[in-house]
Amino acid sequence: MDNKDIIYLDHAATVPMRPEAITAMSAALADVWGNASAIYSAGSRAKRQLERARASLAATIGADPSEIYFTSGGTEGDNWALTAAMELYSGRHLIITAIEHHAVLHTAEYLKTRGFDVTLLTPDSTGYIPPDAVYEAIRPDTALISVMMANNEVGTIEPVAEIGRIARDRHILFHTDAVQAYGKIPIDVRAAGVDLLSVSAHKIGGPKGIGFLYIKKNMPFGAYMHGGMQEKGRRAGTENVPSAVGFAAAAEAVFAERESSQARELGLQKFFLRRLREEIPDVELNGPEPEENTGAEDRYGTGSRRRLANNLNVRFPGVNSETLLILLDMQGICASGGSACTTGAINPSHVLTAMGKTQEEARESVRFTFGPENTEEELERTVQAVKEITGRLKKLN
Ligand code: PLP
Repeated sequence: MDNKDIIYLDHAATVPMRPEAITAMSAALADVWGNASAIYSAGSRAKRQLERARASLAATIGADPSEIYFTSGGTEGDNWALTAAMELYSGRHLIITAIEHHAVLHTAEYLKTRGFDVTLLTPDSTGYIPPDAVYEAIRPDTALISVMMANNEVGTIEPVAEIGRIARDRHILFHTDAVQAYGKIPIDVRAAGVDLLSVSAHKIGGPKGIGFLYIKKNMPFGAYMHGGMQEKGRRAGTENVPSAVGFAAAAEAVFAERESSQARELGLQKFFLRRLREEIPDVELNGPEPEENTGAEDRYGTGSRRRLANNLNVRFPGVNSETLLILLDMQGICASGGSACTTGAINPSHVLTAMGKTQEEARESVRFTFGPENTEEELERTVQAVKEITGRLKKLN
């Protein structure tokens, strides 16, 4: 099936590249092939483009350009933040949550083998991490707290600003994985009190294989990647200028439209859930109930349970999600049974089970995530397809 014929509802896994990013990146691939570290004009042209991209990305999170370090994506940013922070400070204790992406969870597992202690916080039944739980987990030797800004499976928005305040008061470093939140909820690194923040380009319609890690000024981090002096000597390797240019172009387009996209996605989310509930009465929502479209700007840190506007994670009791997803795919509808990284694995979602769902309930759950190109008409077709398939599968039980 051609890409143009599919209904793509898996934007949390990846987002099709935005035309602005393709145009900017294609031009850069042709024009800025010089090595950004070289002193001749082809090099300095590449360097200028790289720094322009860095400055543009820094502005999206209220950071200084000198605080933005290009990475290969969210996984690298998470690995870098956790390992560098833990190895730097004398504290032996790390606090993370049970619903982090595997890029954080598996890095914490690795750090355990290096002698560090890890506390895994469990969320409430909506996937929310109460700031009090973070506060209570702090020990005299806690070096780092890492809590994601929004969850990739259920879209729950975490109280990052409150957690940042707690971390700052106790002089503990704070990292947040903002891979899913970036471009969707406003981020101000100073207001949120974060020291480290990871982002990935392909989740906002930029190219795959690039992201950035925000490292607050004056953090005494050494080299993460050893070699040349690129990225101020902290991450060696010839810079990927065309991807940085494509990333910045995607971010500029996304941020220019952020408020209207948000309102549109909230509308789609409400419509889709209402129609699913009308047509499939036993459907259950995983995570917080979608909110009314209030247009409220400060959408993080207020302590209420909210979810990203483009996410609906639902359970169809008595229906195996793997089978449902395969049958949906045969009709050109792409969704996911958890995070993309665990698709194919038999294990039920670690996020849903941490929220108190049974393994069986987790295996009956599907994640739909919308994007700029989706329409109500596509969602209505999806509701009809899900209704027909779940009806058929339930009869077989
Ligand atoms: N963190 C979160 C919350 C994610 O959703 C993902 C991707 O699924 C990652 C990290 C990893 O990002 P990347 O694919 O750029 O390595």
